[in-house]
Amino acid sequence: MMNTVDIDWKNLGFNYIKTDQRYISYWKAGSWDEGTLSEDNQVHISEGSTALHYGQTVFEGMKAYRTKDGSINLFRADQNAERMQRSCRRLMMPTIPTDVFIEAVRKVVKANEKYIPPYGTGGSLYLRPYMIGIGDNIGVKPAEEYLFSIFCMPVGAYFKGGLTPSNFVVSDYDRAAGNGTGAAKVGGNYGGSLLPGAEAHKRNFSDAIYLDPTTHTKIEEVGAANFFGITEDNKFVTPLSPSILPSITKYSLLYLASERLGLDVVEREVFIDRLDEFKEAGACGTAAVISPIGGIQYKEEFHVFYSETETGPVTKKLYDELTGIQYGDIEAPEGWIIKV
Ligand SMILES: *Cc1c(COP(=O)(O)O)cnc(C)c1O
Repeated sequence: MMNTVDIDWKNLGFNYIKTDQRYISYWKAGSWDEGTLSEDNQVHISEGSTALHYGQTVFEGMKAYRTKDGSINLFRADQNAERMQRSCRRLMMPTIPTDVFIEAVRKVVKANEKYIPPYGTGGSLYLRPYMIGIGDNIGVKPAEEYLFSIFCMPVGAYFKGGLTPSNFVVSDYDRAAGNGTGAAKVGGNYGGSLLPGAEAHKRNFSDAIYLDPTTHTKIEEVGAANFFGITEDNKFVTPLSPSILPSITKYSLLYLASERLGLDVVEREVFIDRLDEFKEAGACGTAAVISPIGGIQYKEEFHVFYSETETGPVTKKLYDELTGIQYGDIEAPEGWIIKV
């Protein structure tokens, strides 16, 4: 049964909204408990929690979509589960098995079904799984107790009036260290990105672009999204580096570029002084799917790709293909959609 909820679906942004139920599970003495749904959105933890002092915290971001026939799609949730396992191992935290993770996501989506934006509004139910080290600790060592939770909220279409390019500026700051935690979705990577992000905004750019921390010559990330470019000879190119967070959206676009659009695809270095090899460029991630890049400011130079106001045709095709799959309008590659 679907109750209704008083939300202006067309004007939803990306803001915290308290929904009815969240999944909570505790790890103690070497194992996870059963896990429950809770109405309480407050987390009560020890002042000695490692999450508070030493950044023992990982998270994920994913979405559930209402389809035309009224069913609910999860997009590649197994990939989020596996990435979270890799993040946990990097921070010496216990892992959540993929089947437990997906079942918990299902429970949260079902319990908050009335918050899923209707098909056609461009909205979706954003899910935020996270794990934190808790318990009474003080030394720099892994916690002995952990909390795993998933909460959710309705979010609106990132672009209300269709895809719109925006401009980015190359930051002097590094996002991650060369052999650090850049490839893991860990809380510590994001606190440090707030200042470069704010400085970019102050200069009227959408976000900061980070170069590789070792040589500062190659693009790594666009804010908290991955970079891709379409070359003049129609190759889909995306940077390869051990300090980039492997975006599920990016690898999905890479597959679709190859299998559905017939482009050559390559993961390789993208030099910041060779932007002229691309006729289109974009940032990709769960939140916006694709955010077309109008131009990039690097030192004194401003490089425009396709246009500062219009989205290039390849970027548009990739966006339509991927969002069509997520909302169930286009047939998905094997295993990409899990029904709730
Ligand atoms: C989450 C994230 C992305 C995007 O990953 P998706 O799986 O596509 O949502 C890209 N870069 C960073 C730094 C991220 O944290």
